Amino acid sequence: MKSKQHFETLAIHEGQAPDSATGAIITPIYQTSTYAQEQIGITKGFDYSRTANPTRLALEQCLAALENPEQLQPTYSLAFSSGLAATDTLLRLIKPGEHVLASNDVYGGTFRLFDKIVKNYGVQFSYTDITDPNLVETALRPETRLVWLETPTNPLLKIADIAEISRRVKARYAQTLIAVDNTFASPYLQQPLSLGADFVVHSTTKYLSGHSDVIGGAIIIKDIGLYEKLKFLQNAIGAIPGPQDCWLTLRGIKTLALRMERHSSNATEVANFLGNHSAIESVIYPGLERHPGHIVAKKQMKLYGGMLSVILKGGAPAAKKLVEGTKIFTLAESLGGVESLIEVPAVMTHASVAGSALEVPAGLVRLSVGIENITDLIQDLEQALTAI
Ligand SMILES: *Cc1c(COP(=O)(O)O)cnc(C)c1O
Repeated sequence: MKSKQHFETLAIHEGQAPDSATGAIITPIYQTSTYAQEQIGITKGFDYSRTANPTRLALEQCLAALENPEQLQPTYSLAFSSGLAATDTLLRLIKPGEHVLASNDVYGGTFRLFDKIVKNYGVQFSYTDITDPNLVETALRPETRLVWLETPTNPLLKIADIAEISRRVKARYAQTLIAVDNTFASPYLQQPLSLGADFVVHSTTKYLSGHSDVIGGAIIIKDIGLYEKLKFLQNAIGAIPGPQDCWLTLRGIKTLALRMERHSSNATEVANFLGNHSAIESVIYPGLERHPGHIVAKKQMKLYGGMLSVILKGGAPAAKKLVEGTKIFTLAESLGGVESLIEVPAVMTHASVAGSALEVPAGLVRLSVGIENITDLIQDLEQALTAI
C-alpha cells in the first residue's frame, strides 16, 4: 500500500503515472475510438472509447481521489461531456413515480433539466429551502429516492449543512440517496462524501478545469454498486468527454489548490470592499460573518471560494451599468476560471428559472472573482460603481 498523500500531491499525480510505453511525464491524449485485440476479446483493458479511454480513466481516477483525500474507503468516479450530462445520467437511476427533493435555489440549467425534461418521464420533483434541515426533513416523502443539494448555491450562495441533512435523511429513509453539486466549492474546499453524501456532481467546466476552455462534468461515488449502475448508464447513454477535454481538465486540476486559495482571498477582499460601498445594498458571500450560512460554511468548507453576489441599491438599471462598466471583470456567463467575470443572473445564467418559484432578484449581480491582482480588481469595480 502506498503511503497516504495529500490533496495537492494527488491533484498532480493520481491516475497520472508516467506513460508506460514512452515515459512521457504527462498523460497522453489517447485520440482513438478503438483498440487492437490480440485475439477476440483479448485486450489491454480497452476496446472502445465510449466504454473506456486511458486519458478519461486518468481523469476519473484523479477526481475520485480528490473527493476522498483521506482515502479511508475507495471512491469511484465517472467523467461526462458536461455537468448537465453528468446530472442527466445520475437522474436515470430514478424511476417513474419516485420523488426528487431539490434545493429551491438550484443552478438554472439543472432546474430546466428537472422541470422540462426528467419530469416528463414520471419522476416527481419538489423544491425547498435547504438552508433549514427541518424543512428538508418535512419535505421528504416515502417515495423520495434522491435529495439534490447545491452548496453554496448558484447564484444566492445559500449554504446547506451537508452532514446534518445527510444524517436526518438517512435516519428517516435509509434508502434515500443524497447528491451534492460541489461545483462552487470544488473538492479543495469541500468534500461532501466524507460528510455523508452518496454522490458528488461537478461541472468540471468551472473550478476543476479552471481556465474557461473546456466543458465537462463528473460524478464521484462512494458505493461500488451505485458506481456500477452509473458506469453501465455512462456507456449505455454515451454522454462521455473526448480525450482532449479530459487532458485539459487534468491539466487544470494540477493547480486547483493554488487557484482556490487565491480565488478565496481575492473574493474576501472584494466582498469587504463592496460591503462598504454606498451603491451596494448588500453583499452575499459565505465568508462574511453576517452571512446566514457562515457558521455552517465555516464547519464544512476549508475557505469560502471565489463566488459572490451583490444587490445594488439602484436595482436592475444599476446592475446593468455595473456589469457593462467593468473592464477587467468581463461580462460573461460561467465561472471558476482564472479571469474575473461578472453577470446579471436574472437575464443571463438564470433566465431559464424566470416565472418559476426559483426566480432571482433583478438587481442581483454575480461575480466570479479571478486570480488577477487584487488592487486592479478593486480599482476596476470602484471605477464602474462611480459611473453609476
Ligand atoms: C455550470 C454549472 C452546472 C452545469 O454544468 P455544465 O458543465 O455547464 O453542463 C451545474 N451546476 C452548477 C452549480 C454550475 O455552475
